[in-house]
Amino acid sequence: MAARIAVVGGSVAGLSSAILLARRGFEVDLYERDTPPPDDLDDVQQWNRPGAPQTQHPHVFLGLFRKLLRQNLPDVHEDMLAGGVEELPFSCPLAATAPGDEDLLMMAARRTTLEWALHRARGRESRIRYCPGASVQLGDVDNGTLKGIRTAEGDRDYDAVLDATGARSKLGLAFTPVVSDIECGKVYNSRFYVLRDGAERPPLQYGSVSVVDGLGYGAALFYHDRGTFSIDIGRLPEDDAMKKLRDPHAFDRVVAMLEPFRPWFEDGKASPISEVVPMPGLRNVLRGLAPDAPKGYFPVGDRVCLTDPTFGRGLALALAHAVRIAETFAGTEGELAALNVRTTQEQVDYVRPWFDDVVVQDVARTSLWRAAVEDEPWQHLLPDMPPNPFLMIDAEEHDPELGQAARRYVSMLTRTVDTSDIHERIQAIGTSSAKDQAAASAPTYAQVLDALGVGVAV
Ligand SMILES: Cc1cc2nc3c(=O)[nH]c(=O)nc-3n(C[C@H](O)[C@H](O)[C@H](O)COP(=O)(O)OP(=O)(O)OC[C@H]3O[C@@H](n4cnc5c(N)ncnc54)[C@H](O)[C@@H]3O)c2cc1C
Repeated sequence: MAARIAVVGGSVAGLSSAILLARRGFEVDLYERDTPPPDDLDDVQQWNRPGAPQTQHPHVFLGLFRKLLRQNLPDVHEDMLAGGVEELPFSCPLAATAPGDEDLLMMAARRTTLEWALHRARGRESRIRYCPGASVQLGDVDNGTLKGIRTAEGDRDYDAVLDATGARSKLGLAFTPVVSDIECGKVYNSRFYVLRDGAERPPLQYGSVSVVDGLGYGAALFYHDRGTFSIDIGRLPEDDAMKKLRDPHAFDRVVAMLEPFRPWFEDGKASPISEVVPMPGLRNVLRGLAPDAPKGYFPVGDRVCLTDPTFGRGLALALAHAVRIAETFAGTEGELAALNVRTTQEQVDYVRPWFDDVVVQDVARTSLWRAAVEDEPWQHLLPDMPPNPFLMIDAEEHDPELGQAARRYVSMLTRTVDTSDIHERIQAIGTSSAKDQAAASAPTYAQVLDALGVGVAV
């Protein structure tokens, strides 16, 4: 008889794991607290998703995510394209291409559109028993092995339990001690808009995204499916003045100041379809498996590793975890439960370099922003800053190879900007002065406060 798996949490990691396991012959019960998305993609913006509040925020779909999706869930990829998701090139037009560069594309989708497509694939799998509206706890541990799960309807036994309940969940918390936990140094404030029917999409700077790299704040515009797009403005967590961003009028006044975003609003081309939604409390958190964790308990996705959303890595890491679980289980004869120690360590090892890299970038950006907000000198911080890939892309006219290397790294297709003599080349294009220029072309922090109505521009 096929092994029976409980997947707890029906979001990106849980849905992908459930589908991939079912396609390898396992019987899967998928438990999710929230209700499923509406059948009609036109209604997905109104989908109530309290269990994953990040669905109300922009998501970028990087090259690695797209590559993993096409390789492992090609029907989901095709369904997204059929639903109106565009794929936008992210390759340097001036650079010679190398094998793998065909994956330098971003999918322009809402996060809810991805889940909608995953749910359609889930609905096609007869081996998945889907249980929405179920708030799950772990079951009893018997002789060092987790027996299964517990819901309001009682206990059920399984051969393995996947914990895909995300970063905020308390499920299995005692079994997943923190390895590293560092603030992101940013609060997201996001608003969604839609382009008027027939309105032409304005150009974007980086694949599906345009960025304003300010000092003391940052903003990005993300193009999604069906004419929708969203803007996120980030502020420091302690910056109470910038809390005014929650006011939609104040938010739109700041948006109107940001040069790359202006074409999106010319001639009443776009209108808002959401309020401004803040997302405080963002942290980079890496967890491991406790030595006394029971056999049979497998954490995946954000439950293991949470990274600053600014870098757009969470979806790819969650999908990579799902793929690894399915491959490991499918390649195992006999008992699955005892695999959890090795498998979880492999999952941690896989995400660790991406996690460490985000932390380095966050610490650097946060110190720069704090200096700018405190009106202290920040230029002396630049020599110690990690190389900023977007500045390399901006300078690719002078060094296309460096630009292409930066694009591969941003897309997660390589783990570093892996050209030889990188430091010499960065110096040659002068990223410090490029940072000065980028900051100079963005409104100053004081100007942003002024637009919010809480300060006076200097
Ligand atoms: C503001 C923001 C923006 C982001 N932007 C990007 C981006 O641009 N690109 C990118 O790649 N990533 C981005 N991310 C990260 C991405 O959203 C996550 O990495 C991804 O959602 C992880 O998926 P998951 O399935 O592991 O967890 P989640 O999506 O958090 O899902 C957990 C699920 O478990 C359910 N659940 C919880 N507890 C229980 C329980 N006890 N019983 C039953 N169900 C339960 C919840 O309802 C939820 O559906 C962003 C994150 C944030 C916060």
